[in-house]
Amino acid sequence: MIRLEGLRKVFRTRRGDVAALDDVDLIVDQGQYVAVRGPSGCGKSTLLSMVGGLALPTAGRALVADQPISEMTAAQRAQFRSENVGFVFQMFHLLPYLSVLDNILIAAQPGKRQEMRGRAEELLERFQLNDRVTHRPGQLSVGQRQRVAMARALLNQPQLLLADEPTGNLDPETAAGLLDLLSEFQQQGGTILLVTHDDRAAERAERVIRMDQGRILDGQLTL
Ligand code: ADP
Ligand code: MG
Repeated sequence: MIRLEGLRKVFRTRRGDVAALDDVDLIVDQGQYVAVRGPSGCGKSTLLSMVGGLALPTAGRALVADQPISEMTAAQRAQFRSENVGFVFQMFHLLPYLSVLDNILIAAQPGKRQEMRGRAEELLERFQLNDRVTHRPGQLSVGQRQRVAMARALLNQPQLLLADEPTGNLDPETAAGLLDLLSEFQQQGGTILLVTHDDRAAERAERVIRMDQGRILDGQLTL
């Protein structure tokens, strides 16, 4: 599902070049649940952004679902993402002035909004948010907000979920609820790349990759 070959990402800053990713090779099979761990600044979020095609590498290649995402134009990457990849972030990235339903439908492809409404309502029902459809994020608990973010990530039925410290500011019970949703996604055949500092989150994964200073320390390969 994911294949990274000699991936490098260098940021040019006033204090010199920072190699956020330094020759990273990684293969993740379809249906795998992989946790990525490592100290702050080691390149975890950069890794996710390369896999999701949010940014391009300085060198190397990233293939996702056999597609060379690192060689696509921005428009192609956006299209690829909306069809294949869901994102869940620590800070949820919900828009405060939109209702719960509209926050989910923002992930719908242009012109498909009407068609996706039913799917959004299904997800809201499944995540016990059906009585919160017209609420705004500010009127929800943290756990409810996190479920809205998850519903948005799942709207387009992605094959791959990228999660960047999604349990980072959740209490244990709420975190467990989110982790259950991730596990459920995997049980239905989905692939997960989860960046986490949280032991309980990492325990759910079948494979843990450790990073340090832009490199993967272990777990690069699967058979
Ligand atoms: P992590 O998610 O593991 O905390 P990041 O991937 O966010 O690490 O960052 C890896 C390194 O790249 C850090 O040294 C960070 O400061 C640097 N970095 C990340 N994004 C940028 C950017 N847009 N511009 C300059 N440096 C960046
Ligand atoms: Mg990060």
